[in-house]
Amino acid sequence: MEEQYKNSILIVDDEPANIISLTHILKEKYKIYAAKNGNDGVRLAHKHLPDVILLDIIMPDKDGFEVINELKNNTETKAIPVIFITGLTNVEDEERGLLSGAADYINKPFSAPIVELRVRNQVMMQNYIKKIEELSVRDQLTGLTNRRGFDERLRADFGRAYRHQAEISVLIMDLDKFKSYNDTHGHLQGDKALQAAARVLQESVSRAQDFIGRWGGEEFVALLPDTNGEQAKVVAENIRKNMEVIEIPLLTDGSPTRITVSIGICAGIPALDSSSDIYMNNADAALYLAKEGGRNRYVLYEW
Ligand code: GH3
Ligand code: MG
Ligand code: MG
Repeated sequence: MEEQYKNSILIVDDEPANIISLTHILKEKYKIYAAKNGNDGVRLAHKHLPDVILLDIIMPDKDGFEVINELKNNTETKAIPVIFITGLTNVEDEERGLLSGAADYINKPFSAPIVELRVRNQVMMQNYIKKIEELSVRDQLTGLTNRRGFDERLRADFGRAYRHQAEISVLIMDLDKFKSYNDTHGHLQGDKALQAAARVLQESVSRAQDFIGRWGGEEFVALLPDTNGEQAKVVAENIRKNMEVIEIPLLTDGSPTRITVSIGICAGIPALDSSSDIYMNNADAALYLAKEGGRNRYVLYEW
């Protein structure tokens, strides 16, 4: 049978018998992780980022309320839905659990169908949320990260570069005379060229931490951590050359068309946590110079 993607569940319970029976109920549909105490629960939550956490309330040392507080106070784990598994039936405890951010409750002793259904509800919700989050940062035409997604990445990477006082480069890339490409060949063909350009960009950067996004229209951006100006120029030249040589067949008769790109680069070690705006402005100024200088070229911003 075909290997299927399985959502994952973390069970945190100090009673081995509970772990065994919950695992038995859920293991066919989900990948299961288990922890016997609160500290291991928090650790495994960070390690595996499960889709749902089943959390016992009464445990020695760190109880379920402490565990959920830690999870909810951490950006990595706070969105993971937690279902309390509990023998407690008093209203105050239930209220306390929901107040601390629990998504749902499962009562002991377990009813297998109730466990399955309550878990399934949370998993379905998580899957929807992930899908929507993914769609909200993806450009539909090119498949690249859109401006919104790029902005998030830009902030994170600049924050990191600032803290480590590391080199970082941004490139703004604008297709040359693209209005006339559209006017000559039509908008549909223009869209096809944008898709081809996106592929070229993605194939022109090699390191896992390099990032390409669609900034809007016929403008793209690249974010290159741990990259200085000289190294960024090499990447830019690589992109420029690769763009120049691809042939984009016309939708009508297949005859080849070509596009070129101009690139503005800003590189350096961020002086501020919020330096990304300055870098983007400078890269834009350099792009303007590349256009002025005759297009199909890159310019590195001079600080
Ligand atoms: P320059 O070399 O100075 O950049 O000239 P340009 O014509 O590329 O610049 P301008 O900004 O005037 O025009 C950009 C054009 O890009 C306008 C629009 O027709 C085209 N464009 C922007 N977004 C899309 C898109 O999603 N699909 C298509 N087909 N064309 C687009
Ligand atoms: Mg433009
Ligand atoms: Mg343009």
